[in-house]
Amino acid sequence: MPFNDLSLDPRLMRSVQHLGFVKPTEIQQEAIPAVMVGRDLIVSSQTGSGKTLAYLLPMMQRLLKSRALSKRDARALILAPTRELAKQVYAQLRLFVSNTPLTSALIVGGENFNDQEKLLKRQPNIIVATPGRFVDHLEHKSVFINGLEVLILDEADRMLDLGFMPQLTVINKAADHRLRQTLLFSATLDHAEVDELALALLKNPYRVAVGASHQQHQDISQQFFLADHLTHKEALLQHFLQQAEIKQLIIFTATREDAERLAQLCEQQGKSAVGLSGKLTQSSRNSVMQAFASGKHQVLVTTDLASRGLDLLQVSHVINFDLPKHAEEYVHRIGRTGRAGAKGAAISLVGPKDIAALLRIEAFLRQPTSFSVVEGLVGKFDGTVRPATPAITPEKKAKLAARKAKAKVKSQPKLSSGKAQFFQGGDDGMAPPKRKQK
Ligand code: AMP
Repeated sequence: MPFNDLSLDPRLMRSVQHLGFVKPTEIQQEAIPAVMVGRDLIVSSQTGSGKTLAYLLPMMQRLLKSRALSKRDARALILAPTRELAKQVYAQLRLFVSNTPLTSALIVGGENFNDQEKLLKRQPNIIVATPGRFVDHLEHKSVFINGLEVLILDEADRMLDLGFMPQLTVINKAADHRLRQTLLFSATLDHAEVDELALALLKNPYRVAVGASHQQHQDISQQFFLADHLTHKEALLQHFLQQAEIKQLIIFTATREDAERLAQLCEQQGKSAVGLSGKLTQSSRNSVMQAFASGKHQVLVTTDLASRGLDLLQVSHVINFDLPKHAEEYVHRIGRTGRAGAKGAAISLVGPKDIAALLRIEAFLRQPTSFSVVEGLVGKFDGTVRPATPAITPEKKAKLAARKAKAKVKSQPKLSSGKAQFFQGGDDGMAPPKRKQK
């Protein structure tokens, strides 16, 4: 189906053509017509699937075709969990707004509140915001949304994980009227809180699920390597850094300290690298992201801050130096590569501390992991792990005490602690998938 079949406003079509987009992506084909007939929408979509335009285009179409309910109020509000994602969405929005009489503003935390107030005084039609800062402005009465026509929640699951339910509730109440259309996007719909949110916000929603989040992303190759300890992980990382086919690389780590240390390690290996962590001020975060997006640096080392939404088309490789705690996060991290049809590679280093996370990822992706090896860098760790000390219930404690007393009486040697046990089961009670070494 070509874009022409969607009957979009010619002003929007001009931008689509200017960007060289010929065919709507699958998610756009499903979502755009449903939104254009006025339905609420709940969408689960794979990262990089073109979901931003799936909501921007029909939302703008509605604003262009109808009159504002109120001159003072914002007409559309797009909420995103992180400043980085909000900026990414805003950048795409700007490409389309510029051909129309519609106005827009970006309102995120970490930036000057008074400057934002001035922006809001100009009564922008479309606002892209992070929930916390937006609610601050609502409470400060610098913005009004009583006549809001379209409310869009991007990465709703992530907003809930970050604890934004109270802010979403406030926003929902402030724009509570019959004519409002609400669109909810989430990487996963297997999330109890997302269900609860959808129930509270959406009216008889049309459901779209394209490429369930556990499905394999066809454009991204995934490899897992076992590592004994930190030094072993660093040796593997140094090996991968030498791969000639790396255009740009994002390394994900668990801690800020590691992000800084690994950026230095990459520099020592002759790679231009930059570290991004929540410790940085917003303006430093912006300049780091801009420098990386412009290709000034080849490597970005970051905690989960950069795992969502960022549209960095040159990223050919992602390395998980540590595995993320949540399985969905794994899908988002690797989704930073393989964008818009390009090929990408995801490499994950798995140490003893990562096993619980790996089991969650295996359960989420519904497939066992096969480990790859780098010749000369094969360690001892085989992917199995010592169980955590089992919890001792009062009954067990009493039994043990009784046994101990009996043993003493018989003057037998103390109970032996036995050999260390190994198990392969998940910490969530799921049977472990079989693994094979490649
Ligand atoms: P998203 O999933 O919204 O982050 O989009 C991923 C990438 O796909 C972005 O670079 C978009 O500009 C691009 N994109 C969106 N829609 C299309 C389309 N119909 N054809 C080609 N590329 C697209």
